[in-house]
Amino acid sequence: MIARTILAAAFAAAATVPAMATTDDKPFDYVVDRFADIEVLRYQVPDFDKLSLDQKRLIYYLTEAAIVGRDILWDQNYKYNLPIRQLLEAIYTGYQGDRSDAQYQAFEKYLKQVEFANGIHHHYSTDKFVPGFSREWFTAQAEKAGQGAWTPVMEQVMASIFDPAVAPKRVNQAAGQDLILTSANNLYDGVTQQEVEDYFGALKNPADPTPVSYGLNTRVTKKDGKVVEQVYKLGGLYSPAIARIVENLTKAMAYAENDAQRMVIARLIDFYTTGDLATFDDYSIRWTEDTASDVDFINGFIESYGDPLGMTGAWESIVNFKNGEASQRTETISANAQWFEDHSPVDPRFRKDKVKGVTAKVINAAILAGDAYPATPIGINLPNANWIRAAHGSKSVTIENITKAYDEASHGNGFNAEFVIDAPTSKLLDDYLFITDNLHTDLHECLGHGSGKLLPGVDPDALKEHGSTLEEARADLFALYYLADPKLIELGLLDNPDAYKAEYYKYILNGLMTQLMRIEPGKDIEEAHMRNRQLIARWAYEHGKKDKVIELKRRGGKTYVKINDYNALRDLFGQLLGEVQRIKSEGDYAAGNKLVEQYAVKVDPKLHREVLDRYAKLDIAPYRGFVNPVYEAVYEDNGTITDVRVTYTEDYLPQMLRYGRDYSPLTK
Ligand code: ZN
Repeated sequence: MIARTILAAAFAAAATVPAMATTDDKPFDYVVDRFADIEVLRYQVPDFDKLSLDQKRLIYYLTEAAIVGRDILWDQNYKYNLPIRQLLEAIYTGYQGDRSDAQYQAFEKYLKQVEFANGIHHHYSTDKFVPGFSREWFTAQAEKAGQGAWTPVMEQVMASIFDPAVAPKRVNQAAGQDLILTSANNLYDGVTQQEVEDYFGALKNPADPTPVSYGLNTRVTKKDGKVVEQVYKLGGLYSPAIARIVENLTKAMAYAENDAQRMVIARLIDFYTTGDLATFDDYSIRWTEDTASDVDFINGFIESYGDPLGMTGAWESIVNFKNGEASQRTETISANAQWFEDHSPVDPRFRKDKVKGVTAKVINAAILAGDAYPATPIGINLPNANWIRAAHGSKSVTIENITKAYDEASHGNGFNAEFVIDAPTSKLLDDYLFITDNLHTDLHECLGHGSGKLLPGVDPDALKEHGSTLEEARADLFALYYLADPKLIELGLLDNPDAYKAEYYKYILNGLMTQLMRIEPGKDIEEAHMRNRQLIARWAYEHGKKDKVIELKRRGGKTYVKINDYNALRDLFGQLLGEVQRIKSEGDYAAGNKLVEQYAVKVDPKLHREVLDRYAKLDIAPYRGFVNPVYEAVYEDNGTITDVRVTYTEDYLPQMLRYGRDYSPLTK
């Protein structure tokens, strides 16, 4: 439930990385679209042409299996997302009027927002979008598009779009409220939080050493007054989409790189066919242990950030293949995993005696889908089940063609000039942020999440709504602590003992200040990664205050972060790691709750206002995401693929409309 890393903010890093060139040597155009608080980029897939024909065939069918699952996520996010999308797209494609009209412009912006968020709630804040066009205008357009009385749920569709009181938030985390009843997602229907907790409480056996991931692939509802689960599977919920996924996985299986990978795909098909969670665990183990294949993918109900109780997996898929050269970095780290575990600044009782199979690689994404699209993680560590991680290890990846695109698109955006305190610090960031940021992701994913252990009998869900935040904090602190370790120089991963300061500075600046650009005035921080980052930065700031480890300096009416003692900051990271690991290992909910409430949630309104104003002048989008490349298969007469071509010319809305038209099994 906690296994992804997302980009902190719109940082500009190493200016020295050369821009990738397209075949005709024109610089690659990374920026595709800009609207609201979003910038859409594209990414390249380096070395796709160097793959074998069978690898290309495999990737092609896996990308088809990825895109075709998209509707599942839309429906998981909110009950009426799919009919809303159909209506919006019908109006957009049929529109005959003036495109400079203010109502139309507001409508187009809304459509772009909804497409980006896979529904009517912001992908990050999960607040419902506010349409800038009138109900009257919209109704008239719907009628013109022949959609006036188009669906029996028209009334709910209109209320969802226009009534602020209907489904205001997709995921509500506010303490003290019924998180199920107040969250608009479609993972639960007609049940209270208490009923859900009682239901799963009765299913779970605390003594079971290998528990399945309860609720991962179900909607919880009531039948004849009793709580029941509706299973996502062939013949169950989302069957038409799952059938298309299975069809493409079956085609992919013929081109698997080896028998182990063929078996991985076969077991995933079994899982989709039966919905059986023990089968999913078997699939996950086989997937974790397949480290020989170059092409790899995830496809299924994986991360549970969209569920306030952290159980149901949002559907997603990422298809990728290994970047051999860059993978040497992560292979070095994982080859030394036991050394890092043994020297970690936590109570030895909470360390793993034997770190199992941490495998890490650097990959290039070939397609992003479902919950990983268009906003996407830059690192992933799976599987999520604690007992599988303990017994079989985990697979960890850094998605370098995505971090590369972020970095390229950030150059010259004015961020450093505005927020970084002085020229030497800016130079430090220019020289070392790209590499230390990537290393931070590597360490976070392949060591941080995999480190430490629970004491016997501790419920893995004991930290409840703070589980994700504290888990991210644990992984980040592990990475931060070791980024400054001479071991990294010894291993040849860094060439300068001061390089880590670039990541430290960025981390504190982001956690104390710049990430606030993503929060609306007056609101608290809610998203787990953001809470984690503020928790760490604030805690370090407060605990280093008397020694002035970190200072907030005022200059010319602006606030700047100044780090006076990087060594002391590293010690603080180590101390906090010790405490967060203790909380996790002992399942100390009360202490975890206190840490989060005290440091991670509340925002200083004055500093917040200042950050928003300074950001507004820069016009940097707080959020970014990606369009996918287009894969075109070339067929022989007998239907065999003879080549797969990749192009990077499709724009944002055209891609969304094409997916809506050709890959929408739940609306047809
Ligand atoms: Zn993480």
